[in-house]
Amino acid sequence: MTDVFAVGKQMFAQFDGGAWLRVHLGIYGAWDFSGEIVVDSTIASANGRMGQTNQRGTIFDTAGENSITSIGAPRLARMRMSEQSKMSTASDVFPPEPVGAVRLRLLTPTVCADLRGPTACELLTDAQIATVIDRLGPDPQHDSSPAAEEKFVTALRKRAVPVGQLLMDQSVVAGIGNVYRAEMLFRARIDPYRAGTTITGDEAQQLWRDWVVLLGIGIDTGQMMTIDDLTPDQWTAAMARREERHWVYKREGLPCRVCGTNIALAEMQNRKLYWCPSCQT
Ligand SMILES: [Zn+2]
Repeated sequence: MTDVFAVGKQMFAQFDGGAWLRVHLGIYGAWDFSGEIVVDSTIASANGRMGQTNQRGTIFDTAGENSITSIGAPRLARMRMSEQSKMSTASDVFPPEPVGAVRLRLLTPTVCADLRGPTACELLTDAQIATVIDRLGPDPQHDSSPAAEEKFVTALRKRAVPVGQLLMDQSVVAGIGNVYRAEMLFRARIDPYRAGTTITGDEAQQLWRDWVVLLGIGIDTGQMMTIDDLTPDQWTAAMARREERHWVYKREGLPCRVCGTNIALAEMQNRKLYWCPSCQT
């Protein structure tokens, strides 16, 4: 592997000889790692389930959605995919026998990565990769230039479609999912049903800049933390429990943390949308 990066929810990796791998985990996809996994500067022998933090000091929450040995769908969700996909327990053999429907295995002399259940996994040429990336909206982790910001601002304000829907459109901005969509609109006090055409340039710019900040925090901590100005104790609690780290996401019926109005829930394009009807008008 000579290069690897993400744009939105997709991973692109280049290999000797020029072939590109494109992976989109989707809801059920996950990578499982075994062998010698480098954690900061220490090497952990991770046959299955050890470790308290992963890259960049990620803190695990009580739902166990991240671990040193896997990235992607929570283990329980993966189990439901098929009986065959049951995760093996720790094995001393390296590389381990593939278990279940392994779609792709990346193997080095010391590390093995198995991919199961992805929405997309394909080998592409340079030209095909360029086409895929070109169709995606900007991702500040991939390109944080003023041009990327401008591309987002223009795309967001172009259509008379609810802004809550536009933020989920991967051609407008790549990578914002359901959690960040709800949280960003609350932070900006924007009604999710407002048409993109009514969003001002300043509002769109602020949304982009907030996304830059939130995405950075997410990558550094491994959690989708969207509340600012927490005390150290509150921060620790919020890292451990999702209920403590969001303004509106999954808080339907609970009082808004700012105004006390009950948080609302509705379906928007088959995804759950959470917002405060008082703060976001
Ligand atoms: Zn409110």
